[in-house]
Amino acid sequence: MRHIFLAALLAAAVVTAPLVPAAAQPGHAPAELGQAVARDLPELMTLYRDLHAHPELSMQETRSAGLLAAEARRLGFTVTEHVGGTGVVAVLANGPGPVLLLRADMDALPVEEQTGLPFASNVHGTTREGLATAIMHACGHDTHMATWVGVARRMAAMRSQWHGTLVMVAQPGEETSQGAKAMLEDGLFTRFPHPTHAIAFHDSATLPAGMIGYSDGPALANVDSVDMLVRGVGGHGAAPNTTRDPIVLAARIVTSLQTLVSRELDPLDSAVVTVGSFQAGTKHNIIPAEARLLITVRSYTPEIRRQLLDGIARIARGEAIAAGVPEDRMPVVTVREAEATPATVNTQALTHQTMDRFRAHFGAQRVQLTRPVMAGEDFGRFRLASPGLESLIFWVGGVPQARWDAAQNGGPPLPSLHSPFWAPDAERVIATATEAMTVAALGVLQRR
Ligand SMILES: [Zn+2]
Ligand SMILES: [Zn+2]
Repeated sequence: MRHIFLAALLAAAVVTAPLVPAAAQPGHAPAELGQAVARDLPELMTLYRDLHAHPELSMQETRSAGLLAAEARRLGFTVTEHVGGTGVVAVLANGPGPVLLLRADMDALPVEEQTGLPFASNVHGTTREGLATAIMHACGHDTHMATWVGVARRMAAMRSQWHGTLVMVAQPGEETSQGAKAMLEDGLFTRFPHPTHAIAFHDSATLPAGMIGYSDGPALANVDSVDMLVRGVGGHGAAPNTTRDPIVLAARIVTSLQTLVSRELDPLDSAVVTVGSFQAGTKHNIIPAEARLLITVRSYTPEIRRQLLDGIARIARGEAIAAGVPEDRMPVVTVREAEATPATVNTQALTHQTMDRFRAHFGAQRVQLTRPVMAGEDFGRFRLASPGLESLIFWVGGVPQARWDAAQNGGPPLPSLHSPFWAPDAERVIATATEAMTVAALGVLQRR
């Protein structure tokens, strides 16, 4: 993420931000909602600390799912478990009207926690790839789950103030980009009411706690993983003339790939091509037969994604021809389509309507337009699976104010999401997000 440049601006704004502004939306009063959430907060924080101390890896979120399912059932939702693995779908039908999907993700990360929090995780587990690891909620999905429960409580309690159908989704496997796909393939849009709108939020490590950030249009990127096998002709390191050196060739390819974004893309478009791994050879004096490159490709539109992927294949082949590699030893370029994450795009009508409501509810100074990020998020799959779906993901700042202020004054740098040191001001995140998601939901479900 890269909206650090906003730091000073936001810091100035948030210090004076009122918790409860004066303006009201029809159907609910900001102060009342804030007070109701404040009453729920101690229990939500207990749940949060419990979830934080018991993190679960992607597609293994059985305990977390069970807690959320039980809570939704208690509130009167019709709950279905094991959707796409460990996913939970909780439906509250409340008359005719829009169908709103609210999503929280449940998975934690293979990270060893170093926050020093009294409820820090010391849980260990095994990834699906068989890797033994410590586990931590280093992306804040525990705040998302506690908020999911908070919103379910508010919407159940306020059901006389809205109409339509609420479909609350607790999604597994966001970090591995498997969960949304697995739930869709398991009938999320066919076995349950088909949503007209979908909303999610994510805690942010680049906004002070309690701030709301949003992007107008693309919010998160297309993420593609590309494997490249660069083939040459191996031989003795002292006789390069008898070989076609794949290391020199792969090095040229790496250099040429840098021109895809810098020379071929419209300068006003954004994209990333990063070679994250370059592996070849075993010994000083052997020219190997192969080199391997692992590349991550980020973009916001299908057209630019295609342009970059085609460009990578073209450059690989072109450099191999220039190096005199025989036709049957051309590079093998594999796009890992099954692991691709599509861009998450905020649709205009829902985004503008919701942000107007947030400004009225929280005060304009707590709502900031932020730049899109090049990270991936599989929430975008819901919109792609349902053309016409109105979709919005927004950020809720999580950086504790004291740490934020210190960082602005030359103090220690702020940890990012996925850092073993990421310790959000969970109380402020959950309170803000519960209010925000409820305001957003009421906005959709009050429409005629
Ligand atoms: Zn994450
Ligand atoms: Zn996340």
